Amino acid sequence: MIFAACILLLICYLSPLKQAGPFKIPEMRKISADIIFSADTSPLSNGVIVCDEDGKILHLGSASDFDPATIEKYEGTIIPGFVNAHCHLELSFMKGAIPEKTGLISFVKHVIALRDRYSKEEEKAAMAAAENEMIANGIVAVGDISNDERSFFQKSIGRLRYHTFIELFDLGSDMTGDALKKGKELMDIARQIPKSSSSLTPHAPYSCTPQLIRETDRLTLEGSKILSIHLQEQEDENRLFTEKKGAWIQFLHDMGCSDHWIEAGAKSSLQYLLPLLSPSNKKLFVHNTFSSAEDIDIAMEKGGEVYWVFCPSANLYIEDRLPDYPLFVRKGAKGCIGSDSLASNHRLCIWSEIKQIKAHYPEIPLEILLTWASINGAEALGMDTALGSIRPGKKPGLVLLEGLCKFEDSISDTQIKRLI
Ligand SMILES: [Zn+2]
Repeated sequence: MIFAACILLLICYLSPLKQAGPFKIPEMRKISADIIFSADTSPLSNGVIVCDEDGKILHLGSASDFDPATIEKYEGTIIPGFVNAHCHLELSFMKGAIPEKTGLISFVKHVIALRDRYSKEEEKAAMAAAENEMIANGIVAVGDISNDERSFFQKSIGRLRYHTFIELFDLGSDMTGDALKKGKELMDIARQIPKSSSSLTPHAPYSCTPQLIRETDRLTLEGSKILSIHLQEQEDENRLFTEKKGAWIQFLHDMGCSDHWIEAGAKSSLQYLLPLLSPSNKKLFVHNTFSSAEDIDIAMEKGGEVYWVFCPSANLYIEDRLPDYPLFVRKGAKGCIGSDSLASNHRLCIWSEIKQIKAHYPEIPLEILLTWASINGAEALGMDTALGSIRPGKKPGLVLLEGLCKFEDSISDTQIKRLI
């Protein structure tokens, strides 16, 4: 460790000579702040991050090892770039189009009605603006849902790292074959997006037959082994599988679909779903507003690697209800944070989502929420070798929480600034 620091100091010392000889020594930045939250180690005071001009971390250590005149010093806390674990870039054009707090079923009907109502140019402009917004807000990677290929052009530009979830639903067994065929065709196209990954995934227990869930799970097991499933966003989703009653039965009928594939008798939607999935597939369960303590225990015990993705602003937009976050914290569940789409959110900003959680549950330590928003998201999306924490060898991006010099301080007025 000391040897490595000495070598680094020597390189730093030699850096002004970089123009003198034939060997180009990379430009380096030494960046410090009141606190450095690496997401791998305890928060550092008087720390310094040394990185190259591309943002690759070379060293994380003490600022006292370096000449203060060579250090960029910021007031506040530096954290790794945010990972947005759940988004639908393709729905960006619906910003402000759907009324708030009308419930999930009304929301889903609006999405279906509006999905093809805009021009291709409007859709493209909205996605480009949404991506710009995410980058400005310190987001470096996205777990993004696609129902078709309309967002692939934007993703191909390669400004953000994406894992694309090709989302399938059938609403009845007569559409299972078509859903799978379309999904496989989309996967073939998604694989061509540079610097990104992709996998098939079922949309939600209420929109996918057990046959489609099993087959999608099997196909994903042969690939990147990551599923992202909307789960327990609304109370009646549990009733659908416990009693075969509630608003989702009516929804299926309204859509002209049969409910013959649904059986009562499960203890919850999650407990119905879990046996249909292989423990070897990583699972991102998204929303979890109506997950019970027993659901969390069973998923953690039998579900393999499970990540609980929370999208608080979208939950407030659609259902005006939040998950019991302290319960997940007490259980030691691995949380992640997502923005969901601009159809159900006013902005794509993970820091705003953290503020939302803190406003309702100030007792949750900021370190936990920052962990959810960085390394947990990177692990969930299989990107943690490069992203999610400030560690030598990674290129995580760096974000400043301006003026936040103590984690106990209120964050309600804290703004963020992207440093790298
Ligand atoms: Zn979603």
